[in-house]
Amino acid sequence: MSFFKEVNSFIDYATNYVKTDKKLLDLIKQYKSVLSITFPIKRDNGEIETIYGWRAQHSFHKLPTKGGIRISEDVNLDEVMALSALMSYKCAIMDIPFGGAKGGIKINPKKYSLNELEKIIRRYTFELYRKNFIGPAIDVPGPDMGSGEREMAWILDTYATLSNREVDYLACVTGKPIEQGGIRGRKYATGLGAFYVIEYLFNERKDILKKFNVEKDIEDITVSIQGFGNVGYYLAKFLFDKKIKIVAISDITGTVFDENGIDVDKLYEYSKEKGGVLGFTKNSSPNPNDSLFLEVDVLIPAALENVINEDNIEKIKAKIIAEAANGPTTFKAHYKLVNEKLIIPDILFNSGGVTVSYFEYLKNLSHVRFGRLEKRLREQNNINLIKEIEKITGKKIEYKNILNGFSEEDIVRSGLYESMVSGFNNIIQKAEEKNIDLKTAAFVLALEKISVSYSQLGIFP
Ligand code: GLU
Repeated sequence: MSFFKEVNSFIDYATNYVKTDKKLLDLIKQYKSVLSITFPIKRDNGEIETIYGWRAQHSFHKLPTKGGIRISEDVNLDEVMALSALMSYKCAIMDIPFGGAKGGIKINPKKYSLNELEKIIRRYTFELYRKNFIGPAIDVPGPDMGSGEREMAWILDTYATLSNREVDYLACVTGKPIEQGGIRGRKYATGLGAFYVIEYLFNERKDILKKFNVEKDIEDITVSIQGFGNVGYYLAKFLFDKKIKIVAISDITGTVFDENGIDVDKLYEYSKEKGGVLGFTKNSSPNPNDSLFLEVDVLIPAALENVINEDNIEKIKAKIIAEAANGPTTFKAHYKLVNEKLIIPDILFNSGGVTVSYFEYLKNLSHVRFGRLEKRLREQNNINLIKEIEKITGKKIEYKNILNGFSEEDIVRSGLYESMVSGFNNIIQKAEEKNIDLKTAAFVLALEKISVSYSQLGIFP
């Protein structure tokens, strides 16, 4: 099954609700550039090995293009193309001025030493640089499955060296360690963004829940999560910290169940030590897909694409499917489920990562940490205000807690919340306007925005 075709099936369907030239919509659908690279590395034992990698750029309606680098044994060109397309639509609905891109390196990172991994990432970056596929104004990679701060720092250092540290070189990649120009809050941003959506849905949009016969308060819901990587773990952690009951969590080793709620902190320690979640609870199964079929309020696929498909939709019992992975539900499965289940679309639900990457990019271009210039000023302003109120009322105010100006992390969290909630509301509004489900609405919104960009820019002859 081609994942890129899956994504385009959604787009074709959404096209029915977009009043734009169909030829333009055809253009939007296609990826615009693809780089396929093959290079050798010398392993620690002296053997030469061939490494395969890709970078797909899906849309140039805004530049730079943006998207993570997936490091996995299973990654392939089709997957990278599909994920780059999802990045375009994701950025469009979130009002992030980037085109979509995605990279892939086909290795199992667990089978390589640190030294070998560094060589692979540096060589991959060198190839991107040589082909003009990386740069603050061109294409900005970020983390994805299998890559994180460490890899982003290697990319940064390679780019810095090759570009002779051009003035904005820090903006060539996001998801970096804080000490290397990263931003506070990026590491857990996808999980936190998804958490904000759930919180907002249950606290503020009971009208949407009602349509699917969900009448619970957030503290009473049950959740099952497939995936315990960066996205699954942090989302689980935010839910757990709010005392929300997570009754199952799976990773590649299997699924663990606990109807009283899994202790996410303990599970994290356990899986770090044992290399996976399996065995954490007495009640566990070696099948990661067993996390999909429980009777829970919210099912969160947070791992791979196409896991909910025509072969297993009969078994899905959750009332809400919140798509933290990219493309976890196939096109056919989606439209069979959509009338009875509330599906929160991936391009909204997991967009917190790229949203905070955008903030990191802005920070790097401005060469200053958010809040640095005005923090003290705000504090002083608050003190002045409080003193005035004390004078007028004659009462003393305990102001220690309200004194603080905003730190970078406060600003990032607030910007993330605002972005997630606005994105969600825009999609809900579009769905209501056109009488369609949220996922179709998300794609309609994305197509409308991208086509406005293309139309206004015209076509280069
Ligand atoms: N991998 C993230 C995603 O799928 C985005 C990476 C980035 O920040 O560019 O949305």
